[in-house]
Amino acid sequence: MTSTSLSRENGYFGEFGGSYIPEELQKAMDQIEEAFLRYKDDPEFQKEYEFYLKEYVGRENPLTLAQRLTDELGGAKIYLKREDLNHTGAHKINNVLGQILLAKRMGIKRIIAETGAGQHGVATATACAMFGMECVIYMGKKDTERQALNVFRMELLGAKVVPVDIGEGHLAEAVDEALKDLMENYQKTFYLIGSAVGPHPYPAMIKHFQAIISEESKRQILEKEGKLPTAVVACVGGGSNAIGAFAHYIENPEVRLIGVEPAEAASLSTGVPAVLHGFKSYVLQDEDGNLQPTTSIAAGLDYQSVGPEHSYLRDSGRGEYVPVTGQEALEAFQTLSQLEGIIPALESSHAIAYALKLAKELSKDDVIIVNLSGRGDKDVEQVFEMLRD
Ligand SMILES: *Cc1c(COP(=O)(O)O)cnc(C)c1O
Repeated sequence: MTSTSLSRENGYFGEFGGSYIPEELQKAMDQIEEAFLRYKDDPEFQKEYEFYLKEYVGRENPLTLAQRLTDELGGAKIYLKREDLNHTGAHKINNVLGQILLAKRMGIKRIIAETGAGQHGVATATACAMFGMECVIYMGKKDTERQALNVFRMELLGAKVVPVDIGEGHLAEAVDEALKDLMENYQKTFYLIGSAVGPHPYPAMIKHFQAIISEESKRQILEKEGKLPTAVVACVGGGSNAIGAFAHYIENPEVRLIGVEPAEAASLSTGVPAVLHGFKSYVLQDEDGNLQPTTSIAAGLDYQSVGPEHSYLRDSGRGEYVPVTGQEALEAFQTLSQLEGIIPALESSHAIAYALKLAKELSKDDVIIVNLSGRGDKDVEQVFEMLRD
């Protein structure tokens, strides 16, 4: 019995999720939902998805025991699920491939996406290049400036990057522009969302494609330890790597599911239930409904809302959600680099920072899986600047 399948009715996870969008846009969602339901369990489609995960992404990736880190802390054993070793250096490609294959089945050749840090844009542009699809990426103007190298990467891969110079010039504005494009062009365009957010069916669809993370890690931990982990820890931006890392453990109540948010953008810890970008979830907004600016050092976590299933897992008590500060993440970034020879993404460093605390509280018989959502090469220059100040 899994709480997700029980809670998921018409795209709702308890009171969260749903589809709060104009009627014109609902047609696009219905079209996507129909295709997703038709193909998700189709053996041919699955075979194709698995083929590209293996041959292009490089799955399955390892579940690495962090031995020196474990010894240093003297508590629970820490394993790292190595999404950082995927092609393009993070978990996002899992979902991108799944959605592009779906678009292909629908006969659509134009892909649009929005990106904050640039990581989802790069993953999307990468897969579009491989499949020969047209690719348009919306990006907040300020984000194009702070991630200039990623803009160049996307252009190198053949994508068109559209800077969005509205409001704060961040992810939220880029999402609005992408939705506008979809509304006008949905018959020939697929909107590829990069996190477990958006109106139904996106959160369920993205979880489906990211669930490969926990499908593998469960098999791997049973092989290595002969038992399930005490806890699975993952960072939460929109929540796609976390929901993928949790998915196959939701049905095992003895496994703690811990989502780590940046204290500077902690939707689940300090937000309120509200509708943003077409779905209901916890949102960082003031009493007048104005979005609060977020200031996480990890651009990929800087979002004012969160995937609706996380809101449900939080309220139902199945998931635990904790904030970690940028400073703590920065320290964890260095600790993992020095003790394990793995430079983690600043996003993933939030999960590591919490695992460092948790491991000390647990015993040597306990096992923690940390989802290492991405590699930190993209962040080295930023960390260099921060440590120099
Ligand atoms: C984008 C990104 C995240 C945050 O996105 P989620 O949807 O919350 O997983 C986390 N880690 C890395 C490395 C990322 O690129």
